[in-house]
Amino acid sequence: MPGTEKFGKDELNEVMSVMETGILFRYNHEAQRNNIWKAKDFENEVKKITGAKYALAVSSGSTAILAALVASGIGYGDEVIVPPFTYIATIEAVLLVGAIPVFAEIDETLCLSAEGIEKAITHRTKAVCLVHMCGGMANMGTILPVLQKHNLVLVEDAGQAFGASYKGTHTGLFGKAGSYSFDFFKIATAGEGGVFVTNDEHTYKMAEYFCDHGHTHEGNNRGMEAHPIVGFNFRISELHAAVGLAQTRRVPEIKQTNQKNKTFLQTKIQSEVPEIQFSTVLDPQGDSATFMNMLMPSTELAKNMVQELNNAGIGGFNYWFTNMYHFINQWEHVKQLKFPNKMAIHYQNIPQDYNALQLPKSQEVIGRLISFGIRCTWTEEELDQLAKNIIACTKKVLSKTTV
Ligand SMILES: *Cc1c(COP(=O)(O)O)cnc(C)c1O
Repeated sequence: MPGTEKFGKDELNEVMSVMETGILFRYNHEAQRNNIWKAKDFENEVKKITGAKYALAVSSGSTAILAALVASGIGYGDEVIVPPFTYIATIEAVLLVGAIPVFAEIDETLCLSAEGIEKAITHRTKAVCLVHMCGGMANMGTILPVLQKHNLVLVEDAGQAFGASYKGTHTGLFGKAGSYSFDFFKIATAGEGGVFVTNDEHTYKMAEYFCDHGHTHEGNNRGMEAHPIVGFNFRISELHAAVGLAQTRRVPEIKQTNQKNKTFLQTKIQSEVPEIQFSTVLDPQGDSATFMNMLMPSTELAKNMVQELNNAGIGGFNYWFTNMYHFINQWEHVKQLKFPNKMAIHYQNIPQDYNALQLPKSQEVIGRLISFGIRCTWTEEELDQLAKNIIACTKKVLSKTTV
């Protein structure tokens, strides 16, 4: 949780300046707010870091991806290609807009692959919801030509990849719209919050109106302006935006330290245990480096490694294959379409049987994957010790199998 590692006076001061005015609402109240506009400042800071033309701070990363789908025109009956490895919010958002999730294969980038996307395309495919996992990036160089060839809309869930880029372009800005999360576990936190980004004015306006009941926010009588569309309330409060603003300012420095720490660990492990591989990072300079993603030679060895790490009392890692909520093997409720109410998906012609999905490549990659959260506050001694601990466990696990 790098954002929360660096929590202090700056966050407090930003929040206090809102508390002093008492205006916790992001719109209007010009006379009382003493020119304090934290949601706007937060958006501007995100624009500064990412280069996005438009940014809209909202209530969560989940609502930001939902808004990105809606604003991109994704809706009832559209097939949307999604990965089987993501935080569940991506899949929920596709279902909530009435679209149909179609699962495709990921590769060693931990994201959808061009090949996987191409295989999942049908005549009803409208969009691809790409998720940049574990702080890294998908292979945009091979994916973008496939999207162009099939005329597909690209929406990016960069929930856990704020600050990451690929050859100069930031996550969320390769397609029509993108989203970041600022929940408690991300590189920067607002407590709860998210940011929608796009370079397209119309798409931005649709998101802006949609996230506040269709209000255009033009003029100074919010509520009595024009309402071009129906929307809902996905607004962020000024208090959350204040925290998000202070945290976002820290991201360039956090990213730099993360990269340094990750490189140290990876280089050291690789030099002593060359059998260990790591997830593919195509542009190391763009890596937000929130995780070091080790790929063990097999799922069996990864499971042994988890056991070994636990025995040795080494924490701070995730084994997504069985222990976390981020992989399709744990999504029985989604596969069975369990909702408390009737949803669009219950009336759709779904092109794949969710209960008999064959995604061997994704099973293999996530089976082998162990992700260590990178901390930006590690001391050199702590880093060195962690590298030694991981190397010792790895050697033990590998030697057992060769006997
Ligand atoms: C965290 C996350 C979300 C959800 O964000 P919240 O702010 O918790 O709603 C969505 N997608 C991905 C990929 C995430 O990691």
